[in-house]
Amino acid sequence: MKNFINEDKIFDILDETDEPSRQSVETIINKSLALKGLSPEEAAVLLNCDEKVSLNRIFETAKQIKETIYGNRLVLFAPLYLSNRCVNNCLYCGFRKENLNTETQLLDTDEIREETRALISQGHKRLLIVSAEDPAVNIDYIEEAIKIVYNTKEGNGDIRRVNINVAPMGVENFKRLKQTGIGTYQLFQETYHRDTYSQLHTSGPKSDYIKRLYACDLAQSAGIDDVGIGALFGLYDYKFEVLSLLFHTMHLEEVFGIGPHTISVPRLEQAQGSDIATTPPCPVSDTDLKKIIAVLRLAVPYTGIILSTREDAVLRSELIYLGVSQISAGSRTLPGSYSNGKNGQGQFSISDERSLSEVVEDMTNRGFVPSFCTSCYRTGRTGENFMDLAKPGDIKNFCHPNALLTFEEYLLDYNPELAGKTKSLISSEISKIPDPEVRKMTSGKIETLSHGKRDLYF
Ligand code: SAM
Ligand code: SF4
Repeated sequence: MKNFINEDKIFDILDETDEPSRQSVETIINKSLALKGLSPEEAAVLLNCDEKVSLNRIFETAKQIKETIYGNRLVLFAPLYLSNRCVNNCLYCGFRKENLNTETQLLDTDEIREETRALISQGHKRLLIVSAEDPAVNIDYIEEAIKIVYNTKEGNGDIRRVNINVAPMGVENFKRLKQTGIGTYQLFQETYHRDTYSQLHTSGPKSDYIKRLYACDLAQSAGIDDVGIGALFGLYDYKFEVLSLLFHTMHLEEVFGIGPHTISVPRLEQAQGSDIATTPPCPVSDTDLKKIIAVLRLAVPYTGIILSTREDAVLRSELIYLGVSQISAGSRTLPGSYSNGKNGQGQFSISDERSLSEVVEDMTNRGFVPSFCTSCYRTGRTGENFMDLAKPGDIKNFCHPNALLTFEEYLLDYNPELAGKTKSLISSEISKIPDPEVRKMTSGKIETLSHGKRDLYF
């Protein structure tokens, strides 16, 4: 399999676009407003821009594009860790094989049910199942885990979308994974720089760079329309990683006619037993992270950007304006810790430790609408179908009302204290729905929720 990340080409692009003029940055910014994306060369000009005035222009444009496409919605989810027993030895990760400080744990069916109950009780509707690479976490176990999650009910609540971040598998197993009704299959390349990759992944199946690079191809060949890619920022030069993410996107578009559904932008966090995680080889400053997110927003305007609780509350509040469309909240990274009360060392340390309700309240104070929507994949709006819908901007007639319906459901079932404070936010948001018929139907459905109906969506 060919390495579609041409490192020499990426270095040349970065050299050729070094120290861009204010004029060249402005030209690219203007082009990005057409919402047709940017080439890697254009993105490189923006990544190479450190001059304050131009950088602020990039941030303002990212905000504008985010607002145009996504409005003020922000989708919320939580990770559910199944196992921290790993056959790999990624030097930056607390779960790695040679880190003998970690107490290992593999959740059994009862524990998966308890974790799911605990997450439903917070108000979550969307989970990301995460696991270390463990022979016991095979396709049979994963299928069973997903079945348990979907079948667990707690009060009025249930989990309606499960995304997956587990080790790659073969096409046949990806087909089985698709059959379980998952949303997105996510896998991060960590670093696209091959030598760095080899140095950091010293043993186990994950040490095969090319196999990992093609994992999303296999998932898409198996019919999983929505795949998520990402890089772990801090391992190698962030500009190289952003351009590689764009080349990865172009590769998937060329082969499957559709790019990734999401891009994740995790930054290296401290992890017990990892020197590399404590002193990242290529530290990424807060301003760099803002630039990464803003440039991605301009370059791939319709691709979701995911941010986790690795970042602290203050920075996360800034980053949601710049293009992030999904955030995790109330997260724990140690298997079992939502329900067993243990607060041990997870995969990495969490910087935003607020509960889901605290995050939700903060978001609404900032004028954002928290969304727990799971409608798209349940109504077949995935892959190309999603893009057809997203591109003309019709998203506002689906996603926005769905965000309001799921937020209202959350308020009724989990946060009645906040309901009083957010009444005016909800009515002003209803009035912004462009289609009058959808506007009317949304008001009607919100009324129906107050009479006990649940899970209403367009
Ligand atoms: N084990 C599978 C894998 O590595 O692809 C899937 C789950 S792994 C637990 C999820 C992600 O956690 C990894 O892809 C990596 O990017 C991230 N991660 C590992 N160590 C980290 C650290 N110290 N700080 C931040 N993220 C980390
Ligand atoms: Fe295992 Fe994933 Fe951690 Fe690597 S990043 S050690 S594969 S859990």
